[in-house]
Amino acid sequence: MLYKSTRSNQPAAKSAAEVIKEGLAADGGLFVPESIPTISLEEIKALCKEDYPTRAATVLSKFLTDYTYEELLADCQEAYGEKSFVGGAAPLVNIHDSLEALELWHGPTAAFKDMALQIMPRLLSRALKKTGEKRTALILVATSGDTGKAALEGYKDVDQIKITVFYPEDGVSRVQKLQMATQTGSNVNVCAIRGNFDDAQNGVKEIFGNPTLSKTLDQNGYFFSSANSINWGRLAPQIVYYISAYCDLLNTGKCKPGESFNVCVPTGNFGNIFAAYLAKQMGLPIHHMVCASNTNNILTDFLHTGTYDRNRNFYLTMSPSMDILISSNLERLLYFTAGSDQTAAYMSALKKDGHYTVDTDILAKIRESFSGYYTDEEQTAQTIKGTYEKYGYLADTHTAVAIHAAEEYQKDSGDLRPMIVDSTASPYKFANNVYRAITGKDATSDLEALDELSALTHTKIPYPLSGISTRKVIFDRVINREEMQKVILEEIG
Ligand SMILES: *Cc1c(COP(=O)(O)O)cnc(C)c1O
Repeated sequence: MLYKSTRSNQPAAKSAAEVIKEGLAADGGLFVPESIPTISLEEIKALCKEDYPTRAATVLSKFLTDYTYEELLADCQEAYGEKSFVGGAAPLVNIHDSLEALELWHGPTAAFKDMALQIMPRLLSRALKKTGEKRTALILVATSGDTGKAALEGYKDVDQIKITVFYPEDGVSRVQKLQMATQTGSNVNVCAIRGNFDDAQNGVKEIFGNPTLSKTLDQNGYFFSSANSINWGRLAPQIVYYISAYCDLLNTGKCKPGESFNVCVPTGNFGNIFAAYLAKQMGLPIHHMVCASNTNNILTDFLHTGTYDRNRNFYLTMSPSMDILISSNLERLLYFTAGSDQTAAYMSALKKDGHYTVDTDILAKIRESFSGYYTDEEQTAQTIKGTYEKYGYLADTHTAVAIHAAEEYQKDSGDLRPMIVDSTASPYKFANNVYRAITGKDATSDLEALDELSALTHTKIPYPLSGISTRKVIFDRVINREEMQKVILEEIG
């Protein structure tokens, strides 16, 4: 299987290892496979008897053909084993009636980014060997919260890789700060920046773009790499849990072999829902995909009108991982629907004018598989409260956005076949917002919200978050933005 850029009409020429190492194509496009492999009902039935790591290795081996099945199985067993995912990765839990939560947050940081970031570093480490790379990859991350911690957990102690995370001192929650400051691992470094997220992000961009620094790195046996969410190595592993979920629907008798189901995904960068699209193209019987947004409803508008327009207000919501105006992975859907020339034209219009409009036949094709719904702040809070009080299911803010969207879709369409709702974060990651939605009042503090939510709902704080305030702080360094390069130079000796 070879890969190419979404913006190029040249034949595919890169191996999976190469695209995982490179991240972004040279023309600015995203890497896509030259064709989509298939999975038959017989193969799916065989996977029903297997555990998650085996399901993952089987699906990944169809895309990453330059990795052996044994390599992938070993990596998947480490990434998705009991040590990281206590009780198993990606369980299906009934919410009510035909709605099933696909819980993607049982990993080491209690959020769905773990599903990709537990395996991606292992794929990168092997990619370095497969491409004959002798240097060590230095991963740089600027984070406003969740991605930094998930990347630290994923890259810690991985061969031939080091990671440095910068976060804004006053721009992350108390829990998030503690999660990063107490990080263990021999190859990790965490540094707070005096400033906001943009300062951290711009600092990292300057470092990536500084040729002198790159040369110094090279002379010392290092090169810069990113843990970006548009990397194919983060997307491919997300296809797995849709196939795994169908196995679980078959195992519990909620679907008969071949019967179809729907999915609803709380969407930001369009990575998670695009993975569902790929699973459907492989042959998984997904009937329809509901794209759920919060008040930043740029995708809802796109799916209704065919116009993607980023010239609009930006809102801070209680589902911050979906506060996004550029959904990068939508480019991959455009490529598979409209081809590379059109995609290149749309992307250059987006860059130049901030908007583009797809042809009516392209929109019609997309709408055959996707519907867009959005959930505002009040509906999100009401959904958390109602779902908990009526059905005993405790949802985080992002999951609640999707539950509401799924219910609206079912009401509008009358389509009541099994609906899988992606649950992307533990309610304890956003404990205060969840507590307020249920009780109508604030918890004592962000940290105490964890215990107070647990006492209120008689549910357990997940292991990555329990006892966080008593863990040993390892990283307490706070620097000015100008000192970021100095930190990098120290890092490479
Ligand atoms: C990243 C994230 C999302 C959005 O996923 P995309 O793949 O970017 O669409 C939704 N919920 C949570 C909790 C996330 O961390």
